Amino acid sequence: MNAPRNFSGADGRFAPSPTGPLHLGNLRTALLAWLFARSRGARFLVRVEDIDRSRIRPGVEEAQLADLRALGLDWDDPVVRQSERTALYKGAIARLDREGLVYPCYCTRAEIRAAASAPHGITAADRYPGTCRELTVAERAEREAAGRPPALRVRAGGVRVTFEDRLLGDFEERVDDFVVRRNDGAVAYQLAVVVDDAAQG
Ligand SMILES: [Zn+2]
Repeated sequence: MNAPRNFSGADGRFAPSPTGPLHLGNLRTALLAWLFARSRGARFLVRVEDIDRSRIRPGVEEAQLADLRALGLDWDDPVVRQSERTALYKGAIARLDREGLVYPCYCTRAEIRAAASAPHGITAADRYPGTCRELTVAERAEREAAGRPPALRVRAGGVRVTFEDRLLGDFEERVDDFVVRRNDGAVAYQLAVVVDDAAQG
């Protein structure tokens, strides 16, 4: 486990998924992140987001890193791979669970879409309607018996986050009950990326 680094406030990172060649939009993102970090004398890190093993194609990671080097981009520290950090993510989920901050959700994508109502910033179809938030023990047992494997969601409690985006200005949004572990047991991107960003400063 990497210890959290000193937070410079200007460090940048590029985090490609090795599912296919980098396209122009990826390269633009990498270049801007690199320029932003280097123009402030800060670190630039590369992280390979390869937790979804079913989508990874062999040789793509090497090709992506070669493309970055060919553009003249360099990075600090060894490249971090999410596939090597599963224990860290599982530890974070266990901690959320101990603190009562997650609950099992048995909904299908179609059910969530059908139950979604008015939009509040993020699109209605993406916002979780809270169906499984307060299930009783009996209701959970019923769903388990029906053979539906649950995802795990964060109990966000409608909390609002605010921060200043250097390009877009002040930002405020209500936090949704987002998924931290998918119903196939895989760690969700939303969890992994936050654990890694925190660990990498
Ligand atoms: Zn649900």
